[in-house]
Amino acid sequence: MNSRQGTDFDAIVVGAGFAGLALIHYLREAGVSVRVFDRASDIGGTWTWNRYPGAATDSESYYYCLTFSKELLQEWRWSKRYAGWQETHAYMHFVADRCDMWPHIQLETEVTGAEYLADRGFWRVSTGDGKTYTSKYFISGMGMISEPVIPKVKGMDRFRGPLFHSARWPDGLDYAGKRVGIIGAGATTVQMVPVMAQTAGSVTVFHRTPNFILPAMQRPMTPEWESEIKANYDAIVAKCRNHVFGMAFDSPVGRNAVDTPPEERRRIFEEHWNGSFRWVFETFDDLLSSPEANRMASEFIVEKMRERISDPAVADVLVPKPGEYPLFAKRPPLDHGYLEAYSRDNVHLVDIADREPIEEITETGIRTTLNHHEFDIIVLATGFRAYTGALEALAIRGKSGTTLAQKWKQTSDSIMGVCAADFPNLFMVTGPQAPFANLPTSIEQNAIWIADCIRKMEAEGHDVFEPRLDAERVWSAHVADIHAQTLMAEGDKVHSWMMGANIEQHPPRVLIYFGGANVYYDRLRQSADAGFPELEFRRLAG
Ligand code: NAP
Repeated sequence: MNSRQGTDFDAIVVGAGFAGLALIHYLREAGVSVRVFDRASDIGGTWTWNRYPGAATDSESYYYCLTFSKELLQEWRWSKRYAGWQETHAYMHFVADRCDMWPHIQLETEVTGAEYLADRGFWRVSTGDGKTYTSKYFISGMGMISEPVIPKVKGMDRFRGPLFHSARWPDGLDYAGKRVGIIGAGATTVQMVPVMAQTAGSVTVFHRTPNFILPAMQRPMTPEWESEIKANYDAIVAKCRNHVFGMAFDSPVGRNAVDTPPEERRRIFEEHWNGSFRWVFETFDDLLSSPEANRMASEFIVEKMRERISDPAVADVLVPKPGEYPLFAKRPPLDHGYLEAYSRDNVHLVDIADREPIEEITETGIRTTLNHHEFDIIVLATGFRAYTGALEALAIRGKSGTTLAQKWKQTSDSIMGVCAADFPNLFMVTGPQAPFANLPTSIEQNAIWIADCIRKMEAEGHDVFEPRLDAERVWSAHVADIHAQTLMAEGDKVHSWMMGANIEQHPPRVLIYFGGANVYYDRLRQSADAGFPELEFRRLAG
């Protein structure tokens, strides 16, 4: 028995990805018992589900990792700039092994619902095997980009071959020599195509909206680079903590594109064209805030994209048109040879926006208004219901009996993405209205705040914390205010998942705090230092 309420565990966490591992570490430090459930047969979260060919991190791996142990940072060796899913997955096993986390993890156990029992002050959590568990704290570590979006295309159940979402890649699927159709052309497809094209018979991408595609420029981790990183890890961790997107970038740089003469601006753009999102942050400080600077950056990227696409007709489909939408209103993909892949004879592009929209899926392929394309395999790389999706997919019932899905029908209000009014003793890691940033950085900052809150609860003998509705209103209004001032607000024009605008028949909404991840991390710290004024603490009667 745990806690004064007599629960099975002090904390139940859903999800054994980066969030689950971070929570095990920080909650153990806080002295509470924790059980992590995951429906998958392995830990890894995103890195277990997204096993599509070419899946790799878009953050550079040496800071896409957990930082709570200096020893671990020194011991683990990354083989390249951006690790593939297998290597990231192996890293997560290394963390779980070295930190003896396995006793806290229960795999192949799907959490199907969770209900707050107001009179008892704890959560009752149901699992797919018909069991229930109780805990004082219920914590979502389910990830902010984890709930797949399955498009509504007529005839989808008719297709005779494998048809699946990219985040549900069938183990051991052999696509060598096969004809593969991919619906969607976001970050996932950009990673997938160049790898699949090497062995597939053909790869055909059904494309709707162009992306600003930045080169990844993969490179191996040399001994010299590794030594430099390992000698500077404290500074690297601090950089992430203090960066607007939680990345170890050298920015702000103290100059604006709009104030820089054209030749000098071009020289700086060219000099920094070294791969990763660094380019956006390490060239000028105004690319995401000034429409004029954003246009300059967009034009430069478009020029670079066109240089790499051999067929101008293909380029016309892949490349954003002038003024179509601002850079970063849609999350730009990083590519490892995607644009060049269209020069291969076995890679094809179908423009479903302007030329031949999809009509239906048939037993043998995809019918558009102009053609019938025959396939052996169809991949739905159609993205995710971001931020709220995983939390809405389960019936998580708060104090009034309302679910999170009901609460978020029109909005996605929260307190800093970590708590929600009407849901006592519930924490979320990177919930709605948290920033979009290098995820391990945000995850650790959230886990620290949660652990600090639990420490206070336990030290002061509280049974329950109630997130305050007024605090939620203040945070949500602040997030909306900032959102309205950013160029990201234009993402609704181009179905950006960053506003939930990728969900059919679902109004776009304010899902992300764009005031800077560093500012947000400061807010979390200030909240903890001030004794969590957003929450009301109390003991149960009796
Ligand atoms: P996505 O960026 O949302 O792209 C989904 C694609 O599917 C878009 O091209 C979209 O077209 C298309 N689509 C959706 N519904 C459709 C429909 N009904 N008919 C036709 N096309 C449809 O999804 P994603 O590529 O999976 O990436 C999502 C996010 O996951 C990324 O932005 C990134 O944050 C994360 N991710 C990260 C990594 C990494 O860091 N290594 C890798 C992959 C993904 P429209 O654009 O027209 O809507």
